[in-house]
Amino acid sequence: MIRINENYLNLKSSYLFAEMEKRVSAFRALNPDKEIISLGIGDVTRALPEACVRAFSAAVGEMSRDDSFRGYGPYKGYSFLRDKIAEMDFNSRGADISPDEIFISDGAKCDTGNIQELFALDSNVAVPDPVYPVYVDTNVMAGRARGWEDGRYEGLIYLDSTEENNYVPRLPSEKADLIYLCFPNNPTGATIDIDRLREWVNYAKENKALILYDSAYEAFIKDESLPKSIYEIAGAKDVAIEFRSFSKTAGFTGTRCAYTIVPRQCMAYDKKGQKHSLHDMWERRQTTKFNGVSYPVQRAAEAVYTEEGQEQVRSLIDYYLENARTIRNAFEELGYKCNGGENSPYVWIKTEKDSWEFFDLLLKEANVICTPGSGFGRCGKGYIRISSFNSLEKVKEAVNRISLALS
Ligand code: PLP
Repeated sequence: MIRINENYLNLKSSYLFAEMEKRVSAFRALNPDKEIISLGIGDVTRALPEACVRAFSAAVGEMSRDDSFRGYGPYKGYSFLRDKIAEMDFNSRGADISPDEIFISDGAKCDTGNIQELFALDSNVAVPDPVYPVYVDTNVMAGRARGWEDGRYEGLIYLDSTEENNYVPRLPSEKADLIYLCFPNNPTGATIDIDRLREWVNYAKENKALILYDSAYEAFIKDESLPKSIYEIAGAKDVAIEFRSFSKTAGFTGTRCAYTIVPRQCMAYDKKGQKHSLHDMWERRQTTKFNGVSYPVQRAAEAVYTEEGQEQVRSLIDYYLENARTIRNAFEELGYKCNGGENSPYVWIKTEKDSWEFFDLLLKEANVICTPGSGFGRCGKGYIRISSFNSLEKVKEAVNRISLALS
């Protein structure tokens, strides 16, 4: 008899987006003439930068001729891309990352989800609350969390990110082995400063713990005093793995390209306390289970690092940031407390109401879709997330409607 991995039975169904969809469909059925604007999902809406499209199609051309055709690529990704990443995303900011420490992949979602395979099942895992659900669900699938009580899994350490701590969690009182951090944060839009990030690095060093640092939204950081990478902190290479993505930076959500940094000196321990290289383990894992990102996609990603690509990416990001500012200003004028929307594409709004009640209010009165904060965790109760990924015209129209509905 073939049996299932019963850890899957411990998963709570992904209620959030299914429930949003259900409510929106019911509203649409009753109001077919109403134009609904979605500021709910975290998917980009604007076209790929021209420089990327040109490089992409030139590479497709190469694939069409025997003399320039490419089959399987190098496991870690092509060096033309890894060299640029090391130089422009890290070395230029004082972070000493070599191309050899970079693994190109098809998404930060897969990498943040798959990385937990490298760690013992009885590791103490700390996750932020509210949280990008991938970190939690993949640990539940692996068997690191079981029962469900009061909106939380038993067996995980939750790091409250609330108004009181500016949405940057404090160090846990329990001993955590594996710590997920995400800045700029999805969903709260929070950023972390160098000193607070250093506290986490020090905690990891003192506890022989490891930080999994999700920096998928670093391109939105405009404040030069804020770190874009955890490796801007001295010593972080010993205790941190970082995840990056071209998804939000360059509109690659449908094109798929990302990368993960696993420094050579980053170690974890076996039962006897012997050190093991996480770089070697991740390489072993990737070479066994992953066959790389297509050549044209890696060429398209490489074009992000050309002068033209940099300018086009900047303008994409600025466009979404202008949307985010427009959203945040509108809610603040209405008297709501907001976080994010600066250095982040998300605005996190304190509603003083149940998140779903507020979702319904915006849907019915303004015909605007947001994301209820409670769907990201217990600390998200009473909040909504508004995403800036839409056209400026739609965002303006949405905030006008919201202002009329809420004032
Ligand atoms: N990490 C965070 C925090 C995200 O919000 C997302 C996507 O929404 C991802 C990772 C996934 O990125 P990718 O498209 O590279 O899989």
